[in-house]
Amino acid sequence: MTYLFETPEINTIPVQGEAALFPVHRIFCVGRNYAAHAAEMGVEVDRDAPFYFTKTPSATLATDATIPYPPGTENFHYEMELALVIGTPVFRATQDQAADAIYGYCCALDMTRRDLQLVARSKQRPWDLGKDVEHSAVFAPITKASDFGTIANQRIHLEVNGETKQDSDLSKLIHSVTDVVVDLSKYYHLRAGDVILTGTPEGVGPVIAGDIITGGIDGLAPIKLSLGTAE
Ligand code: MN
Repeated sequence: MTYLFETPEINTIPVQGEAALFPVHRIFCVGRNYAAHAAEMGVEVDRDAPFYFTKTPSATLATDATIPYPPGTENFHYEMELALVIGTPVFRATQDQAADAIYGYCCALDMTRRDLQLVARSKQRPWDLGKDVEHSAVFAPITKASDFGTIANQRIHLEVNGETKQDSDLSKLIHSVTDVVVDLSKYYHLRAGDVILTGTPEGVGPVIAGDIITGGIDGLAPIKLSLGTAE
C-alpha cells in the first residue's frame, strides 16, 4: 500500500508495567458528571443518562508536555478527569460486561477553550471548537483495572502552580464508569483502544502562558502539563 503523503503516527498512552503502548482509537468525553461542576457551569445535571462529546484522537498528548497557548481563545481552562480505557470489544453491554471491558484507568486533562464552548452552548451549536482543541487530551500512564481495584472515594485533585484548584473524590461521579460503558455501548461498538474521559469535578478555571498544571487521583500515576506562549 502506498499513500499520497506520510501517514500520521498512531497516538498512544503508556501502560504501567507493560512495554507495549495502548493505541488510542477514539476519545469520548462525558459532560457534567459531578453535580458541583454542573452547578458552577450554571446547568442542571441529567441523572437519567450521561451525554458525550468527542475529541479527535490526534489531540492525544502525553503527560509532562509543554503546549503552546492555543489559538482562538482568551479563556483556556483545565479539567482534571478520571479516564477509562477499553481493552475488549463490547456492544450493548451489561454491567458485568462493561466491567470486563475496562482495561485500565489513568489521569487525564480535558483542556477546553471555555469561551468558545460557552458561545456554542448559548447558540445551540456543537462544542467542537471549544472542546476538540489540538493537544487537549492529556494522559498519564494507564494503571490496569486489576491493579487499581474498586472505584470508591479516591481523591481527584488538580493544582495550578502548586495551588489547589480542584479537590473532590470519585464517589461523587453521577454516572459510574460501568454505567457510562453500558450507556455508550448502546450507540457504539466500543473496541480496544477507545478512551472515555468521565467528567471533571468543580473548580475549573483558566491558565495562562507559564502556568504549570499538576493533578492526580489516588492509586494512579500523576499528570502534569505546562503552558507555553501562543504561536
Ligand atoms: Mn471534561
